[in-house]
Amino acid sequence: MKKILVLGAGLAGLSTAYHLRNKKNLKVLVIEKSAHVGGTARSVEVDGFTFDFTGHLLHLHHPYTKELIRKLLKGNLMSCVRKAAIYSHGVITPYPFQVNTYGLPNSVKKECVQGFKTAVEKYSDDTLRKTSLPFSKWSERTFGEGIHRYFMKPYNEKLWQTPLDTMTAEWCGMFVPQPKLEDVIAGSEKNLEKSYGYNATFLYPKKGGIQVLPKALAEGSSIQLNTSFEEVNWRKKEVKLSNGKTIKYDSLISTVPLVELLKRTRRLPEEIAKLIPKLKWTSVLCVNLGVNRPKISDKSWIYFPENKFIFYRVGFPMNFTPHVVPKGCSSMYIEVAHLPLKKLNYKSPNFLKRIRSDLEKCGILKKQDKILVTNFIPIHYAYVIYPSDRTKTLGTLFNFLEQNQIQSIGRYGGWKYSFMEEAILDGKKAAKAITGFC
Ligand SMILES: Cc1cc2nc3c(=O)[nH]c(=O)nc-3n(C[C@H](O)[C@H](O)[C@H](O)COP(=O)(O)OP(=O)(O)OC[C@H]3O[C@@H](n4cnc5c(N)ncnc54)[C@H](O)[C@@H]3O)c2cc1C
Repeated sequence: MKKILVLGAGLAGLSTAYHLRNKKNLKVLVIEKSAHVGGTARSVEVDGFTFDFTGHLLHLHHPYTKELIRKLLKGNLMSCVRKAAIYSHGVITPYPFQVNTYGLPNSVKKECVQGFKTAVEKYSDDTLRKTSLPFSKWSERTFGEGIHRYFMKPYNEKLWQTPLDTMTAEWCGMFVPQPKLEDVIAGSEKNLEKSYGYNATFLYPKKGGIQVLPKALAEGSSIQLNTSFEEVNWRKKEVKLSNGKTIKYDSLISTVPLVELLKRTRRLPEEIAKLIPKLKWTSVLCVNLGVNRPKISDKSWIYFPENKFIFYRVGFPMNFTPHVVPKGCSSMYIEVAHLPLKKLNYKSPNFLKRIRSDLEKCGILKKQDKILVTNFIPIHYAYVIYPSDRTKTLGTLFNFLEQNQIQSIGRYGGWKYSFMEEAILDGKKAAKAITGFC
């Protein structure tokens, strides 16, 4: 009997266990430090409001995951049309910014369109716009100086909390739409009513928040909650747990943040240990609010590039499904990014005052609105930063781990910008690598 140990019961870990279920001669155990399954794809219930760890919407591209999720959620799914927007210069325009400058002041519009034209003339050759460029250069060459100045730069600085010339654009992929010049010009004159990007429509559970997905995926797997792994001995193939026990494994699947796995691995070779400080990331504080007025917004979410707002995005769960708020109420998730070491003093009343004042400034909240529920969820590992030597660093790290029967997968195990569907597929792939027949 081979022993398979899975670290972490987020979607990647749960999917690994799910895809190894009922396989002969395998014993699979999942170790999870928290009291619940789901990782970042979790939800909390507070006084009739259901909140996720910020918005967690299902963008499914593969027939396999579409079918799996439909099977797991047994009809508990809503199909939603994205109504995303940007608040800038006092106006709300549809997402994405690059093709929706029509409501902005004339001088801004002009700069954006002219900048895009110049960029197309100068950098039409794809090799001049490689995503391995520093993000700021890639963005200026792809969208032009105006769009970079008014959206790409301030928004991404706020989200990543990192100078944009020290990270690449390799994470962008499908996440940042790249429009044609004619759409940029037309979109500076009127609403094109055209959908862009990977998430123009999405799925979301009708009831129960995103948590229903990991719960369904977890059913039937052997999971030990409230147990943290403390140490890995890669030579002896053993893991020490917080309950004092030591478990032997034949194969280890880790979905915990790569940096945590490495820090807790005993006697790493020098050339591996010295790469750990290269792994950098940002944290997000999710502030969930329940409000006593229905339909405080008709949007799915709104981006806030300007520095005068403390948050970079505000989303409205009641517009995904009405079942996440009590009748006559609205809810919001408010995302504030910060560097991991720079803790936000969110327990101070001044912090909430600032959030409220910003929400009133942009017109989402009215003076008379009552906040019924406040809930804070700190997400320590939120977005991993892509430096220029990422591929080389990760190649060396994953090589070492794989040679020692350790697969590090998922969004944080794989140290990447990815989404829930990918975490599920990562788990399936890891299971296949173990059995060869998933
Ligand atoms: C702000 C934000 C918004 C997002 N929005 C979306 C969205 O709209 N749509 C979408 O598809 N994706 C979204 N994502 C991404 C999505 O959350 C992830 O891709 C996915 O949930 C990652 O799953 P995972 O299993 O790889 O990692 P995780 O969910 O992080 O799971 C890892 C697990 O390991 C556990 N763990 C950590 N340390 C230990 C330890 N020492 N011992 C034992 N267990 C441990 C953790 O508790 C956790 O349960 C978003 C992510 C963030 C941060």
